[in-house]
Amino acid sequence: QVVTRFAPSPTGYLHIGGARTALFNWLYARGRGGKFLLRIEDTDRERSTPEATTAILQGMNWLGLDHDGEVVSQFEGAKRHAEVALQLLEEGKAYKCFATQDEIAAFRDEARAEGKSTHFRSPWRDADASTHPDAPFVIRIKAPRDGETVIRDQVQGDVTIRNDQLDDMILLRSDGTPVYMLAVVVDDHDMGVTHVIRGDDHLNNAARQMMIYNAMGWDLPVYAHIPLIHGADGKKLSKRHGALGAQEYQAMGYPAAGMRNYLARLGWSHGDDEFFTDVQAKEWFDLDSIGKSPARFDTKKLENICGQHIAVSEDAALLQEIVNYLDAADQPALSEPQTVLLRDALYCLKDRAKTFPDLLEKAHFSITSRPIDVEEKAAKHLDSVSRGILNDLTPQLQNASWSREGLEAVTSSYCEANEIKFGKMAGPLRAALAGRAATPSVFDMMLVLGREESLARLTDAAK
Ligand code: GLU
Repeated sequence: QVVTRFAPSPTGYLHIGGARTALFNWLYARGRGGKFLLRIEDTDRERSTPEATTAILQGMNWLGLDHDGEVVSQFEGAKRHAEVALQLLEEGKAYKCFATQDEIAAFRDEARAEGKSTHFRSPWRDADASTHPDAPFVIRIKAPRDGETVIRDQVQGDVTIRNDQLDDMILLRSDGTPVYMLAVVVDDHDMGVTHVIRGDDHLNNAARQMMIYNAMGWDLPVYAHIPLIHGADGKKLSKRHGALGAQEYQAMGYPAAGMRNYLARLGWSHGDDEFFTDVQAKEWFDLDSIGKSPARFDTKKLENICGQHIAVSEDAALLQEIVNYLDAADQPALSEPQTVLLRDALYCLKDRAKTFPDLLEKAHFSITSRPIDVEEKAAKHLDSVSRGILNDLTPQLQNASWSREGLEAVTSSYCEANEIKFGKMAGPLRAALAGRAATPSVFDMMLVLGREESLARLTDAAK
């Protein structure tokens, strides 16, 4: 069974790169009936905060990246990590090193002066255990000295590292606390992780982590180190590029399904398919089609894909997402009557909105109430001539059958009788019904608002 994991360090919000890593792991597991686990790498006590953990969980929740089982805290596993170091010590695969900081610094200075590798070669590696002094020590792994280590990476291909480039890294510090590298390997092993999919900034760590797997005789996971995300300018994604947090995208009103789709395409492809559903993504996602070069974040593409997802959303789900968006963006919540009208209006709003603010802008007519506040651009359409038209037309609409055909029949016969083009009426009707110049079609608005409310707005505007 495939087991993947997302292992963020809780030192900040869930950023776009992390969200993409989580998504890839989620897609890989979910597409294969596997498990997707979540481990919070909170061993750095200074920089880890519970707020960051909460923010990461919220970001994943927004993106719908549900994980299996309990959230694992890496810090809480410290005892188990230490046990593994002690086991390796026992088995002679690790050793106690009593070298002091000064001795290590002196070793490095000398090596540098002689132009040799500055990897510390501890004199304690081959020391007789009985000569060990009663002094503070660290536990170091016996790194292989000859040959090479090959990381068989599903994205990067075979990456070969000469073993003389590896040092006898510390497993357990002199205060008995395990190092991060050990914690990751023990946790991944104990959690049964079969596939490690993560940013390629961890590629070098893989060689060092493999030493521990090998020393313990554990099966290696499949590695897939994915290229980082760059901004549109090709440079590493940073604050300069604007929003970086997944939740900032929620607050900007991007639908989660669109975000998932876009993030999936960021570094992975399936032919020319740009727009796809979760079901398709789970079915199609694989490690072979992850690109080797950094993907560029392109807001235009994101908006395009989001627009397509809004267009195909089911009304009830869409409405719920809009409600959540308003909350995330600290905007006033919708009242009951506003919610009802907005839901009725969705059919004529979905097709052209790229984001929720976009949709709500067009939805203004359904959310606003009398007296309608008319924006400047629309007010131009309510001059005396236009008001005269509204005055004449309103009583005729009163008797219309309130259906698209009925409304169209009344307005077109009015236009014919008065020899005016429908375009001449559209502006005043939009201004009267919505107070805006850009709106859905006037018939859609009247149908959503109903006879009574529509006529009241037209009467108000004609005054
Ligand atoms: N905690 C690491 C990070 O946030 C991830 C380590 C891993 O995936 O192995 O970058």
